[in-house]
Amino acid sequence: MKITNIEVILVDRPAVNPPFVWRKNIPGSDGASVGGWLVIETDAGITGFATAARGVILKDYVDRRFRSEMIGQDPLMREHLWERVWELDRIERFAPNMAHVIDVALWDIAAKAANLPVYKLLGGYRESIPAYASTVTYSSIPEFLDIASQCLDRGYKAIKLHAFGDAKKDAELSLKLRAHVGPDIALMYDGSAGFDLMDAVYLGHALDEAGFLWYEEPMREFSVTAYKWLGERVRIPLLLGEVTEGAHMSAGDFVATGVASALRVSTFLRGGFTGAMRIAHLADTFHLRAEVHGFGLEQAHLCMAIKNNTYYESLIKDNPFTELGQDVPVDKNGMIHAPKGPGIGYESLWAEKGAPKELAKFLKG
Ligand SMILES: [Mg+2]
Repeated sequence: MKITNIEVILVDRPAVNPPFVWRKNIPGSDGASVGGWLVIETDAGITGFATAARGVILKDYVDRRFRSEMIGQDPLMREHLWERVWELDRIERFAPNMAHVIDVALWDIAAKAANLPVYKLLGGYRESIPAYASTVTYSSIPEFLDIASQCLDRGYKAIKLHAFGDAKKDAELSLKLRAHVGPDIALMYDGSAGFDLMDAVYLGHALDEAGFLWYEEPMREFSVTAYKWLGERVRIPLLLGEVTEGAHMSAGDFVATGVASALRVSTFLRGGFTGAMRIAHLADTFHLRAEVHGFGLEQAHLCMAIKNNTYYESLIKDNPFTELGQDVPVDKNGMIHAPKGPGIGYESLWAEKGAPKELAKFLKG
């Protein structure tokens, strides 16, 4: 099989409405923006699709670097092409969330060629998994508790806070939330890199006291040493490596220091499906978890393929809450189920919900 065409189709995306924030009023949702679909066509008549949050940036990469690199290549040689992207990255310094969109589309092609959903081609492990309700930042502790009750009523049995980004207030919220939901609901905390070491230690003690399952990215992830010091001062398990560059190559340092109890994986920040699976297997070598970051079809495939992942992240916003990841429905028991293939399953989704009009010329029938 050979790649015959690769292009980016720009798509206008309306602003998320109403918008939401992460801690201390840092914008969480996009305003109106230009997204993109990466489309890779082959001489076998199989077309691969992948989405990109930043269409204009990806189009620039494809026009200047990737098209000449990819046309004529065998799309099934994913490891080779993944390494070529790193080679080009040495000069380009690709945005971490844009570098491996190609890998995602190549897995779509390979899985369609095999007539399998991607998670089975990756090595299927399960057909369903619990989702956790991953909150945006709400305005007050009472509102967070109200949202938690709504989530439990909806069927979720696990809740992750993106809280205020104030160590003292977040500690208070965490203890009150535990008292509110009782001992049997899994609770997680995501700091979205809002703290320095001293505040991260203070909050870590409170999360431990409240019986939280994991403590995620309390500081920027530039310094593995700072995390080593945090790990020496708190008992709660740390989930790390969500936004570091270099896929398994940087994740390895969090393993080597012994600080991480779990590593973050995703298709969009950790090197596509190929990078995510490398990290997952690295983590598994040392009996660490590899928890999937983010929502949507691609991440649902990872959830079904990675043995040492335990949850799917379902982002919730607004009050009464709404779920952002509606392409992967959460059932009344708080579970998601394996996506339909073949491939990533965008065509299956479009058969139900309608395809993006911009992609009409690439769709058969
Ligand atoms: Mg996170």
